[in-house]
Amino acid sequence: GHARPRSADLYHRGRVVFPGGITRSTIDIDPHPLYVSEGEGAYVIDVDGNRLLDLNNNFTTLLHGHGFAPMIDAVTDLLRRGTCFSNPTRHEIALAELLVSRIPAMEQVRFVNSGTEAVMFAIKAARAYTGRPAIARFEGAYHGAYDWAETGQSGSFESAKTGLRMARSAYTGAPGTTADAVVVLDFNDVDGLEESLSLHANSLAAVLIDPMPSRAGLLRPLPQFIERLNALAQQHGILIIADEVLNLRQGYNGASSRYGLAPDLLTAGKIIGGGFPIGAVGGRSDVMSVFGSDGKAPLVPQGGTFSANPVSMVAGRVAMEAMTFDHFSRLERLGTMLRSRLSDLAAKYDAPFSVTGAASLFRIHAKRVAPTTYSDARMTMVEATRMRSLSRFFRHGGILLPSDAAACLSTPMNEEDIDSVSAAFELFLTTHDTWNEE
Ligand code: PMP
Repeated sequence: GHARPRSADLYHRGRVVFPGGITRSTIDIDPHPLYVSEGEGAYVIDVDGNRLLDLNNNFTTLLHGHGFAPMIDAVTDLLRRGTCFSNPTRHEIALAELLVSRIPAMEQVRFVNSGTEAVMFAIKAARAYTGRPAIARFEGAYHGAYDWAETGQSGSFESAKTGLRMARSAYTGAPGTTADAVVVLDFNDVDGLEESLSLHANSLAAVLIDPMPSRAGLLRPLPQFIERLNALAQQHGILIIADEVLNLRQGYNGASSRYGLAPDLLTAGKIIGGGFPIGAVGGRSDVMSVFGSDGKAPLVPQGGTFSANPVSMVAGRVAMEAMTFDHFSRLERLGTMLRSRLSDLAAKYDAPFSVTGAASLFRIHAKRVAPTTYSDARMTMVEATRMRSLSRFFRHGGILLPSDAAACLSTPMNEEDIDSVSAAFELFLTTHDTWNEE
């Protein structure tokens, strides 16, 4: 049986004190969340004692899985000396130096506490630097919860009055003026990009782009799309903000350098905090000077009670230092192996599944053809149901697989884990061939 009574009980309690029973809307409820009691390397153990291979890693945060020993040692030592101060510490400089040395687009950096904040400050910096209010962003891509970053994520509509494409608000009651300052684009659509950027050139501060947008389908960027974006941005004086909160994980130098994107600002988060809350906004020194330059009042004030707290700084540095070039290569080999095994299996059984991703990241789609655009990646009800049933099957088989987001590998994983994920997928394909009825 697959009964998980302790998780069910906790959900029962959670429903009293939390709207919807949970504290973040991204939690998988099917039929209740799995409450975790501990993590151990590549695995999590739920409160009912089930052990699951963790392909979520807190939404791709953890590079080394759970309980990474060097991180524990460093943070434990730090805890005795104090966890937060109003003063700066040497730890923030050490993490900043590591990031600046690895990420070509990052000449200088500021630390914050989440990816949402990092994107917010990147947008503010672009506005202050260019003196323009609007941003362009790609439909379907997730960039956190800052109003201008979330507007247009869920789509766009044609204005009856002007015939222009308008960003859809992210929530009921959002001020329409927010949407006025957001231009919605289609990922990998070169012509649309060309047209929109020239049309809105005078009001656009920046194009906000995740080089491989995960919520939009973990779509691989077309080389000509990236080239045109670089050229058009330069031509119109529009900055490029590469949101690498998730995709920095693609390599030692991050994702932009991998795909030839030339951002002016770059946001990071997740992996750079070693399992603790973090965000970072970095970029060209002249753009970053809006946050402060010698003696002058900053154009963009940026503070934050917990920004650059030493716990996140130390944990992040230890996790990133341990993530050597060779570790990135090894994870990439495992990722390539897993992606090709999964797509080969889908082909072998003529099953409506495909795989996208790169490096340690992958996403399974309940679609026959791997999507290259967001409109291809968008799930129908039938496909969403099929993905949920795959994810449920995996969970019962001891594998934690997100059903509508990027999954990822971690350094404690090995080829045996790739084998067991592949075996679970094959078992699903051979025992759940009622795809069209689900
Ligand atoms: N940008 C991207 C590309 C992300 O993937 C995320 C988080 N999934 C965010 C921003 C927001 O980061 P956070 O959840 O740390 O606020």
